[in-house]
Amino acid sequence: MADAGLMEKIVSLAKRRGFVFPGSEIYGGFAGVYDWGPYGVFLRENVVRTWERSMQEHDDIAFIDSGIFTAPEVWEASGHVSGFNDPLVECLSCHSKLRADHLLESIGINADEKMSEAELNELFDAARKDIVCPVCGKKQFGNVVQKNLMATSTLGRFSEEDKEVYLRAETAQGIYINYKNVLQTGFYKIPFGIAQVGKVFRNEISPRQFLFRKREFEQMEMQYFVRPSEAPAIYESWRAERMAYYDRLGIRPDHLRWKRHDNLVFYAKDAWDIQYEYPFGWGELEGLHYRGDYDLSQHQKFSGVDMSYRDEKVGGSFIPHVIEASVGVDRTVLMVLAEAYAEDEMNGETRVVMRFHPRIAPLKAAVFPLLKNKPELVAKAREVYDDLKKAVPYVIWDDNGNIGKRYRRQDEIGTPFCITIDFDTLGESPEKKDTVTLRRRDSGEQDRLSIKDAIETIKKAIA
Ligand code: ATP
Repeated sequence: MADAGLMEKIVSLAKRRGFVFPGSEIYGGFAGVYDWGPYGVFLRENVVRTWERSMQEHDDIAFIDSGIFTAPEVWEASGHVSGFNDPLVECLSCHSKLRADHLLESIGINADEKMSEAELNELFDAARKDIVCPVCGKKQFGNVVQKNLMATSTLGRFSEEDKEVYLRAETAQGIYINYKNVLQTGFYKIPFGIAQVGKVFRNEISPRQFLFRKREFEQMEMQYFVRPSEAPAIYESWRAERMAYYDRLGIRPDHLRWKRHDNLVFYAKDAWDIQYEYPFGWGELEGLHYRGDYDLSQHQKFSGVDMSYRDEKVGGSFIPHVIEASVGVDRTVLMVLAEAYAEDEMNGETRVVMRFHPRIAPLKAAVFPLLKNKPELVAKAREVYDDLKKAVPYVIWDDNGNIGKRYRRQDEIGTPFCITIDFDTLGESPEKKDTVTLRRRDSGEQDRLSIKDAIETIKKAIA
């Protein structure tokens, strides 16, 4: 169910509680770029680690970390220089730059990705009278122009004759150009995969929807190299695995669905997306694509390097087929934020609480001394804090304001546990010496536990 109000609440909480800040905010912003705040850094890290772990469970997947910059030929071979375009149209009234295909989609018309500029203009002209600018509500547009999404740079370029240099628009190409290097380490035989996580850049015409469509973002990609005959079955098993994976992030299965691509690019054998129901509606989260041998063949053609694989098992040699699993870090974080956001009532008050799965919550526990001006209490709380930090990552000290306020704050950050150290901990009532109050985020329940049991409870919950 689309809920535009929810998106606003998430954006505002993300800033207020230190998850995500608008890029270059003090200079009025920089479209398509956001900065991770103190808790956003941890949340992002937990999302990435969960993905990395799921890939590391496969002994046949190697990790690499390739450069953001490559030889320009990489993007000529991949087809990005000639074909990685989005159709731009300008509103003649408010001068917003808009995606022509998205405007057509808004009135139920599907523009094929393969359409030429002329074909797109024909389609747009026929529908022009019904298309409304989503920014100003007027109906006056210019012509549709294809815009390339590759961001360029002057890195290593000192004269006009030097070739244009690109920032990578996907991490996958770094994997293809290193496929032979990984094979030559001698540890991998087909079928095997190469995974990497990294920043990418795309000149998106209209960056929007917060973390969903950025110009600088991150991808987690895995390319699996297979024998052509085995590809369809392996593709199916990756599809099943990737959908099941989202349970680890605590995503409700009915908030995810499969969507098959209507129009396959000419080399693709099959392509499905996993969509999530974002506050603005269903949107692509991850792509699972069976790409045939296109990528390695193109690099063989452009570089002259033989990309074929000598098959010791069945004899002969062939160019491996590629199955790709590609997901955005930022779109995953946005999903996790949307999934966690809740408002409920506690002790007669409405509260906002981020119900993150404890495994991905940016902070696992907060430690509170009941009062900050009682040295014995603070010293004992420090002891507990130090012990907890040794057992559990991402723990925070919080002595600011009354306990109720501290709970509210930790609820909004999504911290699953709070530990309070009070006079009973110090032995004011002897039977309670060395016990603490452990408060649970979701239910608000409080238990009196020994320090050791409190730490064990937290450890178990995030294991
Ligand atoms: P879209 O159709 O939404 O533009 P895409 O099909 O171009 O996405 P891919 O090239 O398949 O996306 O990229 C793989 C993944 O990278 C996507 O599934 C998405 O999670 C993420 N991604 C793509 N573009 C962006 C962006 N502009 N901002 C944030 N994440 C993105």
